[in-house]
Amino acid sequence: MAEMATGVELTPLQHKTLALLRRAPDPVVFDQGFIAELRRDVDEAFEHFHERLGSTTLFVSKHRVSSVLGCEAQHVHPDEFAWSPAVAGGQVAHRAIQLGVNWRGDPVPADLVDEAIVRLSDDDSSLGDWIERLGEADRADLTGFAVDKVIKFSECFPPLDRRAAPTTESSVRWPNEGPIVLSGKVDLSIGRPAGAESRKVIIDLKTGWVAPKHREDLRFYALVETLRTGVPPRKLASFYLDAGEPVVEDVTERTLVTATRRTLDAVNAEIELQVEGRAPVKRPGVSCKWCPLSTECDEGQAYLTGDDR
Ligand code: SF4
Repeated sequence: MAEMATGVELTPLQHKTLALLRRAPDPVVFDQGFIAELRRDVDEAFEHFHERLGSTTLFVSKHRVSSVLGCEAQHVHPDEFAWSPAVAGGQVAHRAIQLGVNWRGDPVPADLVDEAIVRLSDDDSSLGDWIERLGEADRADLTGFAVDKVIKFSECFPPLDRRAAPTTESSVRWPNEGPIVLSGKVDLSIGRPAGAESRKVIIDLKTGWVAPKHREDLRFYALVETLRTGVPPRKLASFYLDAGEPVVEDVTERTLVTATRRTLDAVNAEIELQVEGRAPVKRPGVSCKWCPLSTECDEGQAYLTGDDR
């Protein structure tokens, strides 16, 4: 990771980031027998799941894993998602950061954001359609949210040298086809394996509070990476841009076993709910705060008013 910075003078925060993500002197090499066994366990579980799925297909993302393992009633409720400048600002910032990583020279954050908005508006996607129809005030808000995030990113991260193989918004999936596909988009990854040596760091960029779910999200990516390439990443980092604080975790065999168990539990629950007709279980928790069902849900109300504690 010494190649991460390009010789420019770094701020204390950038130095801190570099120190946290730097490779230790001893190479990280996972036991190949362990990786083969993990892969075998997943293959066997998928075979069993395929028989129960019938003609249903499942796209399993980090969001769906944590959603189905949280409150199932909320999980099966139709999603009434709508874009807003605050929500879209994150997507635009990620696209701008992606441009910035490969931009020559020292780009101005607002220019990167303007270019990201133009490119996203050309996409054949719901976000592209929404940007196309934006009024001037919402567009200004969108730009403001995204520029804020891009500036915070540049304050936290040193310039990323190309030799560190930085990639942003990189789509990952495993397997390539089949009735169950694990998939996701990695905000930022740095490094790549050297033979069987784990060198990659997978980073999620966050703007809110620290939540345990964020660690689980990254472990899901570590599992997908391991299944794809046979070489696990060496570190996972949730980077909280507002606070300038990363939460970093070394990838271990235990990390991968936990992620496997969680992912298989999530697929099993999806099959029970979507194919086998099991009734969803309510699991009150922090998600009651933004649940669209909360006003008519007794369990949720009890949680929110503290009556269940
Ligand atoms: S209010 Fe809470 S318990 Fe009720 S459905 Fe929503 S998340 Fe589940």
